[in-house]
Amino acid sequence: MISCEKALELVLSNLPERTSALIHLRDALGCVLAGPLVANANVPPFNRAAMDGYALRACDVEQAPVELDYAGEVRAGGGAAGALPPGQAIAIMTGAPVPDGADSVQMVEQTRRSPDGRRVTIQKPVKPGENITPLGFEASIGDVVLEADRYIGPAEMAVLATFGFARVRVWSRPRVAVLVTGDELVEVEDNPRPDQIRNSNACSVTAQLRLMNIEPEYLGIVRDDRDELRHRVREGLERDVLIITGGVSMGEYDFAKQVFEELGLEILFSRVAMKPGKPTVFARKEKKLVFGLPGNPVSTFVAFENFVRPALGRLCGWSEPDLPRVRGELLRDMKQAAGRTAFLPAWASMGPTGWTVEPLRWKGSADIIGFARANAVVVFPAERDFMAKGERVEAMLLPDFHSRQR
Ligand code: AMP
Ligand code: MG
Repeated sequence: MISCEKALELVLSNLPERTSALIHLRDALGCVLAGPLVANANVPPFNRAAMDGYALRACDVEQAPVELDYAGEVRAGGGAAGALPPGQAIAIMTGAPVPDGADSVQMVEQTRRSPDGRRVTIQKPVKPGENITPLGFEASIGDVVLEADRYIGPAEMAVLATFGFARVRVWSRPRVAVLVTGDELVEVEDNPRPDQIRNSNACSVTAQLRLMNIEPEYLGIVRDDRDELRHRVREGLERDVLIITGGVSMGEYDFAKQVFEELGLEILFSRVAMKPGKPTVFARKEKKLVFGLPGNPVSTFVAFENFVRPALGRLCGWSEPDLPRVRGELLRDMKQAAGRTAFLPAWASMGPTGWTVEPLRWKGSADIIGFARANAVVVFPAERDFMAKGERVEAMLLPDFHSRQR
């Protein structure tokens, strides 16, 4: 049995090289840029009015209030106006190009148009350059506007659009297959016989992948039959990563490890000092990775977050895909047998005096109902058997922490 830390190290040191792909901008949200984005244009592309008002020469209004001749208007998207002669003011809208000759914009609130419309009173002086964003102020051609390895969130989507990148090179998301094992399982739309249960792991694992912006291929339930399992695992290995749940522990019908070996996979670990999740298996064959997650629903969930997320997140190009860890005040005493790192459901919140961590009642590694109340897991160190109320403990925030409500 190896420690959780050692197991994670083994996973991370066995990741294949990342590959990149050119994808459409509309699919890029949540991806990571595979190279820097270099400005191919100046932003703004012209001297841009930052206010609705009048473009003019600052030297003409030093003695404001003064009256200038009205020289027409220039609208955003309405073409460029000719050069502005001295002594004139031209109405200008936010986002419109400032005509040559004008060096500043006085905001409309500081102006008054004569009743005949032919003259404009400018109430206050302006400084040269005021209310004008000069050409190239935000970026000039050749500037790196997004560095390589930048996560593409909504703001980055806008940056890509600004420069016309309808296609963008990102780190490829791995193709992930999900397979669940168990003679007792039926799918969610089916009625279980008295000796059967519904397959819930396929739902949680595919949802965990979707929260990582990975759309998995679900391969269905495979019976606890060695030949069938071998056949389906081989099929799963056509993708980059195979996640299989159940069939990895010590039971008579837990064939996963044997099958992995028969298929020439190298098993890098198969027992981890963690609770839940002890029988987690990690195997590899060349560039292909296989995670065997224990079948109990909470074990599957916790093992995914500890090993699958860090691996797949890095393949997708995220530098820190692991669940964020916080330290907070424990709100209740906790007892655990020493020897394995425990990951137990908790409610973590940030209050005026810092983080607090409240352990939640649950009924073991099958109890996904109790676990579903958590927004975090307390990390109970392997060498401890008691943690006292008031101690500072570590908690890992679940991936949808910010959306979870009590
Ligand atoms: P296993 O790891 O196959 O020994 O399964 C351990 C426990 O988890 C058993 O009680 C299984 O019935 C249960 N289990 C396995 N797979 C699933 C699944 N996909 N959904 C819900 N429970 C499961
Ligand atoms: Mg099973």
